[in-house]
Amino acid sequence: MTSAEDDVGHGTTAGEARPRVVVVGGGFAGYHAVRSLARSLGERADVVLVSPTNYFLYLPLLPEVSSGVLEPRRISVSLAATLPRSVTHAQGEVDDVDLAGRRVRWMDPEGRHHTTGYDRLVLAVGSVHKLMPIPGLSRYAHGFRGIPEALYLRDHLIRQIDLAAGSDDPDERRARCTFVVVGAGYTGTEVAAQGQLFTRDLARMRGLGEDAVRWLLVTRGEVLAGLDRHLARTAERVLRERGVEVRTGETVAETTADGVRLHSGEHVPTRTIVWCVGVRPDPLIEGLGLELAEGRLVVEQDLTVPGHPEVFACGDAAAVPDAHRPGQYTAMTAQHAERQGRLAGRNVAASLGRGRRRRYRHRDLGFVVDLGGTDAAANPLHLRLAGLPAKVVARGYHLLSMPGNRLRTAADWLLDAVLPRQSTQLGLVRSASVPLDTSSPEVPHHPQMPFPPERSSGTGG
Ligand SMILES: Cc1cc2nc3c(=O)[nH]c(=O)nc-3n(C[C@H](O)[C@H](O)[C@H](O)COP(=O)(O)OP(=O)(O)OC[C@H]3O[C@@H](n4cnc5c(N)ncnc54)[C@H](O)[C@@H]3O)c2cc1C
Repeated sequence: MTSAEDDVGHGTTAGEARPRVVVVGGGFAGYHAVRSLARSLGERADVVLVSPTNYFLYLPLLPEVSSGVLEPRRISVSLAATLPRSVTHAQGEVDDVDLAGRRVRWMDPEGRHHTTGYDRLVLAVGSVHKLMPIPGLSRYAHGFRGIPEALYLRDHLIRQIDLAAGSDDPDERRARCTFVVVGAGYTGTEVAAQGQLFTRDLARMRGLGEDAVRWLLVTRGEVLAGLDRHLARTAERVLRERGVEVRTGETVAETTADGVRLHSGEHVPTRTIVWCVGVRPDPLIEGLGLELAEGRLVVEQDLTVPGHPEVFACGDAAAVPDAHRPGQYTAMTAQHAERQGRLAGRNVAASLGRGRRRRYRHRDLGFVVDLGGTDAAANPLHLRLAGLPAKVVARGYHLLSMPGNRLRTAADWLLDAVLPRQSTQLGLVRSASVPLDTSSPEVPHHPQMPFPPERSSGTGG
């Protein structure tokens, strides 16, 4: 063990009564796994949650942070305030899992390594940006998966409109007022929808006129491919009616400092490229030497990893067989991740003698897509809604699903309905702090002090 490492325990050894359960990742799956573990096991087990942030991030509302509707802390729900006291939060990023020795190692935000043993391990590390070999992509585009990226985008949008308003070069003005979003899943669609309304209002306030703003949503396939067609059709109609240029069947060939070249040959001058082209499981998963499917960790229907009955995986990182679509895996959605996390917690408890083990089985209950303003699309229990009724359902659904900060979130929505949106740039997150190729979109990267700052060798313990 190096001086920068300490060992926080080994899990159960002979004579110790309390087993140790380590959950890696505090997103939808990990957060709900920990809650269900605490409920089922109480003080009967040591539950340790390792995650790089001290909050649970409610990702579906991230586009409302980048468009200035919500303050970032609204969707960052404190772990300390909402998890039972019996759960220990170890802040850090796991960089080594020793499956044979049943130990995990993580690095805390100050670069120190820690290790612990486990009796049960739950892997819930989610996903990261999916990159593609497109010239200039990682240099000129930014992703959208964490608070730092949303804050960067919010400032960046305001800055582009401010600089456009101060420029007397019409080409520069046009490029600064042009925004390109690549990928039309729920992330790209909502970022474009919310961003267009935000920049349109900013442009009007700065005297540029609403028509100065141009948004493009570029996608290889259809808008909201894979979701219910009602949602997809409604979203596409709303975007087109607002003037967003929806380019389906189109891809990006190159990105440069002054624009994007599309495969059709068109060059779009812009200073903004938001990359929302899907996700891939966290790189930690690849290094485990376990069976993967579509890059996700293969699990049985009870969420255990084949050959390792003490290891469970859930959420985006796990390839969970979909009981309602034989031969397919469950989609990477919050709805599945949350339910799988809860079940992983229950099945871990069952493996320790509390309760009965179950298989994962969940049919989609519908989806909501918030398009900003009074527009939304929703299909709760497969009832097709659009416009204001869908908006009410979408907001109600989010408030019910958030594990905390509900009143503050509702207050921000109320204020946004009656007051103009704030357009100050704070400049706290700079472009280099949110590189597209990061494997940790939740933590800003500091070029002078890279995160992780240093990695010591050896696993200690
Ligand atoms: C902008 C955006 C909008 C979305 N909107 C919707 C929506 O409207 N509806 C919907 O159903 N889905 C939506 N999704 C998808 C949904 O958020 C994901 O499917 C869901 O978050 C997956 O849950 P998870 O727990 O697997 O991963 P996450 O919620 O991403 O959590 C993973 C956690 O693991 C942590 N972690 C990663 N690596 C390590 C490591 N090495 N050590 C320790 N911790 C680690 C991360 O910091 C994070 O806390 C959206 C996603 C995004 C990005």
